[in-house]
Amino acid sequence: MSEYEKLVARGRELAVLGSTASVLSWDQETYLPPAGVAFRAEQMAELSSLAHTRATAPEIGEWLASCEGANGKLDPLQRANVREWRRDYDKATRLPNRLVKELTEATSLARERWVAARQERDFEQFRPALEKVLALTHEKADCLREGKDGLSAYDALLDEYEPGAEAEALRPVFAELRDAIVELLPAALAISEQAQVNRLRGDYPQAKQEEFNRAAAMAIGFDFDAGRIDTTTHPFCTGLGPRDVRLTTRYDERDFTSSFFGVLHEVGHGLYGQGLRADAFGTPAGEDVSLGIHESQSRLWENQVGRSEAFWRVWYPTAREVFGNLEGLEMDEFLLIVNRVEPSYIRVEADELTYNLHIILRFELEQALFDGSLAVADLPGAWNEKFESMFGFAVDHDSNGCLQDVHWSLGALGYFPTYTLGNLNAAQLFDAAREQIEGFDAQLATGDYSGLLAWLRENVHEKGRTLSPDELMRAATGRPTEAHHLVSYLRQKYAEA
Ligand code: ZN
Repeated sequence: MSEYEKLVARGRELAVLGSTASVLSWDQETYLPPAGVAFRAEQMAELSSLAHTRATAPEIGEWLASCEGANGKLDPLQRANVREWRRDYDKATRLPNRLVKELTEATSLARERWVAARQERDFEQFRPALEKVLALTHEKADCLREGKDGLSAYDALLDEYEPGAEAEALRPVFAELRDAIVELLPAALAISEQAQVNRLRGDYPQAKQEEFNRAAAMAIGFDFDAGRIDTTTHPFCTGLGPRDVRLTTRYDERDFTSSFFGVLHEVGHGLYGQGLRADAFGTPAGEDVSLGIHESQSRLWENQVGRSEAFWRVWYPTAREVFGNLEGLEMDEFLLIVNRVEPSYIRVEADELTYNLHIILRFELEQALFDGSLAVADLPGAWNEKFESMFGFAVDHDSNGCLQDVHWSLGALGYFPTYTLGNLNAAQLFDAAREQIEGFDAQLATGDYSGLLAWLRENVHEKGRTLSPDELMRAATGRPTEAHHLVSYLRQKYAEA
């Protein structure tokens, strides 16, 4: 076996272990009875320690060095795999065991404190634990960027979720988006005032919602022979291996749109999973590239496709038929309702327009926390001040403010910007698809999504990790991630309506 083949074999072994762990956690989120939780934790710990040992074994370093020395003999795809394996190996071996252990303990305590603090609306209960997590996260960032001149500590964290992304490059893009949103907000609010949400409320039995969601998921290309949809309180999508993608959703029997848009979102993630090359399973070429690209796939189907007039011209008659109680609600009214803007305290409940303000606020604050210009003790004040200046109303208590998200308790700094990157990329990829696919609008108008899906398969899904997210965006759209695609999409929707 050549060194390269040894890397392929180890990669497959690790991917099988990883997907086995995914089966266990999927089961935990969906069907595991409460009494089984403790044993499940033992199973997960055993698996993850096995995977860690196999992923950090010294022989991998030798195989990599040998492949890197013989780079000329590898084809471009093999070179890309070696580059990504190196990345994974360095990440896995750079952190000292002591630090990994301390981080695990500190984040599990911080998460516990965060739950309690959020419940009691008392930031002070969370503060010391967050300070500890931040200090350790700093140490982690320093280990990750060792020997990488010019990589900032924050970017070392960002790179975990969005390989190659830099805060410096994101700032102007996010600033342009923020200005545009602030400018659009009054017009969007004026339009949204006409939306009469209560006119949509009705009786939508779960079984009928499942039927409708399934029909739409199939129409946009989700393969139910290679995936399924189950019920959870927190919707997610997870790949359990090649040709096995699991989605979850939750149901509100008074409003079918909550599960419907949730499903469209997760189906977008799922299509990415189903579009990865099964023959490359276990190698980087068969893996998803970043959170910002993943989120672009969910947002594109949820928003660019799913909230459009063209989509509902096809699907509203079906919705009326399935639910039998939408006769009194005209499609135009329905469109107003599902596109309405309603600023709120809570990120996860936010509409398409203000969602990005929530992210920009977090992006700015986490950088300040991380570089030390903002003390943890001053976080609630800084949050509330920023929130009021962006949204125009004051935060009433910290659980509606800086205590609402779990991410920082887990040390996941650098994660938030990937949500807005997803929104930006979705708009940009959709524009590129429209430009490159002949008869694009006519296809969508008849409910034919195969051209769009084929384009995404070719330009995004099948690329795996052979390109960095930035290279992928440039190859697919001709440009790096920019603000103006999303800005003109939002403008068309809210300023020119
Ligand atoms: Zn998502």
